[in-house]
Amino acid sequence: MHLHIEGTLEPELAFALAARNGVTLPYATEDELRRAYSFSDLQSFLDLYYALMAVLRTEDDFADLAHAYLARAEEQGVRHAEIFFDPQAHTARGVSLGTVIRGLSRALDAAQETYGITTRLIMCFLRDESAASALETFEAARPYLDRITAVGLDSAEVGHPPSKFKEVYALAREAGLKCVAHAGEEGPPAYVWEALDVLGVDRIDHGVRALEDERLVARLVADRIPLTVCPLSNVRLRVIDDLAAHPLPAMLDAGLLVTVNSDDPAYFGGYAHDNFAAVRDALGLDDAALRTLARNSFEASFLDEATRAAYLAEVDAY
Ligand SMILES: [Zn+2]
Repeated sequence: MHLHIEGTLEPELAFALAARNGVTLPYATEDELRRAYSFSDLQSFLDLYYALMAVLRTEDDFADLAHAYLARAEEQGVRHAEIFFDPQAHTARGVSLGTVIRGLSRALDAAQETYGITTRLIMCFLRDESAASALETFEAARPYLDRITAVGLDSAEVGHPPSKFKEVYALAREAGLKCVAHAGEEGPPAYVWEALDVLGVDRIDHGVRALEDERLVARLVADRIPLTVCPLSNVRLRVIDDLAAHPLPAMLDAGLLVTVNSDDPAYFGGYAHDNFAAVRDALGLDDAALRTLARNSFEASFLDEATRAAYLAEVDAY
C-alpha cells in the first residue's frame, strides 16, 4: 500500500543503469554507495534519493526498476502491490511522463504472470512543489489515466499542508481516481484532518501522529480509513526513536485499520516481510496480530471485491 518505486533502487541497479546511460555517480564502488545509504537524517536521505534518480532516463530503465522491485517483493511473499511514483522528480530532469508510465506499466503488466503479483499504480505529487505544478502534472497525465488508480501526496510534509492541493484532488476525484496522501508522519494531526475533509482521501499514508488526537482516532475508526504505517522508515527517519516504542500495537488496540509497509525499502533497511518480521520481534506481536495486519492490507487495497475476497480467503486459510 505504501511503496515508492524510486525508493527501491538498490546500489547494484543504480551502477548498472549509470553505466548504460553514461551517468557518473559520485561513488567509486557499490560498497561505497551502500555505505551512503546509511544516511543520518531526512535531508541526507533526500539528497541521495534525488541524486540517484539521475540514472533513470529511458522506458527500459523504469521497466528494469519495477522488475527488480517485483522480484524482491515475490521473495518477500507480497501478493499485491500498490506502487507510488513521483512524476515531477523525472519531468524536472527532462524525462517525459509517458516514458515513466510506459516503462513502469510494462513491468507491472508482466507482474502477475512472472511473479504472481497483482499491482496498481498511484501517481504522487511532490508537496514541496507548487499547487500549480501538481495541476500541470495532472493535466499531463490525462492521456494515461487508465493506467493510474489513485493520486497521492509525498515528500517533505511540514509546511506543506494537504489543503494546498485541494483543487488537483477535486479534479482527480472527478476523473474517477482514488485519493491517498501522506499525513501525520512528521506533520501534526491537523494535516490528517485536512487530508480527510479537504482532499477527501480514501487512505492516509503514515498517520502515526493521529494518535495525538482522540477525536481524530474516533473518526478514522468510524469511517474505517486505512493507515499505511512504515515501521522501519519511522525509525530510520527518527519519527520514532526505537522500534520497540512504535505505536503500532496502540493503533491496533484502538481499532484503527492499520497496515505495515516498507516506504523506500532500499534506503530504510527492508522490504515488506522485513518490516513484518521487525515489528513481530521488537513489539512481540503474536500470530493473531500479524494475521490482522495482513487482512487489513487487503481490506485497505483498491482491489475489486472478488479479488479482495480471494486474497482474504488465502490469509484466513494460512
Ligand atoms: Zn512514503
